[in-house]
Amino acid sequence: MTKNFDILIIGGGILGTSISYFLSSLNKSKSIGVIEQSENVAVHTSGRNTGKVHAPYLYNPEKKKLFAKAAFHGYEMWEQYAKLKNLPFKKDGVIEVALDQKGIKVLEKYLKWAKQNGLEDSDIELMDKNEIKKIEPEIQCESALNVHRDGSADYSKFTESLMDDSKNSGTQVLLNSKVTEIKKEEQGWKIVLNYEKEVFTKFLINAAGGEAMDIAHDVGLGEKLTDVHFRGEYWKAPTEYNSLTKTSIYSVPEFPDYPFLDPHWIIRVDDSCEIGPNAVPVFSPYGYDKTENFKEFLPKMLEMLGSGARKAIFDKQFQELAMNEIQSSMSKSSMVERVRRFLPKIEPEKFTEKGTAGIRSSVINENGKFEPDVILLNNESSYHILNYNSPGATGALAFSAHVVDNLHQSGLFKSEDLNADCGPWKFSEIIEKLKE
Ligand SMILES: Cc1cc2nc3c(=O)[nH]c(=O)nc-3n(C[C@H](O)[C@H](O)[C@H](O)COP(=O)(O)OP(=O)(O)OC[C@H]3O[C@@H](n4cnc5c(N)ncnc54)[C@H](O)[C@@H]3O)c2cc1C
Repeated sequence: MTKNFDILIIGGGILGTSISYFLSSLNKSKSIGVIEQSENVAVHTSGRNTGKVHAPYLYNPEKKKLFAKAAFHGYEMWEQYAKLKNLPFKKDGVIEVALDQKGIKVLEKYLKWAKQNGLEDSDIELMDKNEIKKIEPEIQCESALNVHRDGSADYSKFTESLMDDSKNSGTQVLLNSKVTEIKKEEQGWKIVLNYEKEVFTKFLINAAGGEAMDIAHDVGLGEKLTDVHFRGEYWKAPTEYNSLTKTSIYSVPEFPDYPFLDPHWIIRVDDSCEIGPNAVPVFSPYGYDKTENFKEFLPKMLEMLGSGARKAIFDKQFQELAMNEIQSSMSKSSMVERVRRFLPKIEPEKFTEKGTAGIRSSVINENGKFEPDVILLNNESSYHILNYNSPGATGALAFSAHVVDNLHQSGLFKSEDLNADCGPWKFSEIIEKLKE
């Protein structure tokens, strides 16, 4: 195995993998590596999400510019990639419901954002409750957005396939390798793996998901920022509910200023149904169980109290939201009740199996506010992607192409051939589209 790399990416999630996919297609003579602590790619958030390929109607074009743009192009890109590789992808749409007059106003705002973010009249329509009843008789609501340009996919399969492509183009994947120390050296970075093995790289990309903030801090970047972790839990619906609706149903969130939504009624790409996710505050990016959360409770609390997160924790609305979410974690009925508001047929006792929980790490700034968009930080030999949250999986291909282009244009990492073919696309054509 090579010990010296031109470029190393920390994180084998959908983001790090997509970046390696483009970098290795464009740079045939460079040594490129991905470091992943788990036994496979997409073991954490990328393999533990709702699996939706989101149309960008939920994203304020001013505040979530990068996410919205990447999501808009993501739909087409995943469709093309899925076709090429024969991977599951369904254009099954989504319905977003409003349960009261306040919610209808929010839907009107979403419709406006959708158009600003590039959706066309045929992609999305606002319907009143009678129109919705005709297509989804079990749904109870006052009004709804019927979003046709939305899909379902299996992001674990996408990530695994991209990693295979990436390896075929020369990327080395270092699995079961946790980055335990990063040290600046004259020619780049020394990276210590699992406390013992050393590798070296001229340039470093941090796509470490829930640990991206810690890694940025380790190299002296983003010191005024911190992150808070939220576990999104799911319950699997019994098969008798599989035909309750034709489409996945989202509802206008109760607290739209926070970076997560209320639990949905989900139809996955394999046709199974679930409810979720909620957003329970936890103390680690891997806080799936009590042991990990207990271990990380004290250090994370101390970190949050000494940062902008302190203001968020003591904010009354945040506390109300957190209590609500904790309640829906402790009580299955509370969770089901949140979906029953718009799908009254479902009964809590019929949900007997939990789904796979995933954790999002949201960045809070020094003023105690949640940062809405992805944050890009760099120094002369490293580049860090923070706050890469929903719809991060949808936008992963488009956003990664943007990162690779950004590295090239800024001179941080010059790629060899911007015209190279990358699967179904020519890289330069993706960049042209992103600029439109
Ligand atoms: C509950 C939930 C539902 C979501 N639903 C959707 C959806 O429907 N559609 C959508 O588009 N998006 C969705 N998202 C968002 C999407 O899943 C994420 O934006 C995306 O998966 C982030 O990918 P990533 O590669 O940045 O992170 P990750 O998948 O977490 O990958 C980061 C990787 O870095 C590795 N790593 C970290 N630190 C180290 C270290 N020190 N050494 C070695 N390796 C390290 C980790 O092991 C991990 O594998 C959802 C997110 C959540 C939490």
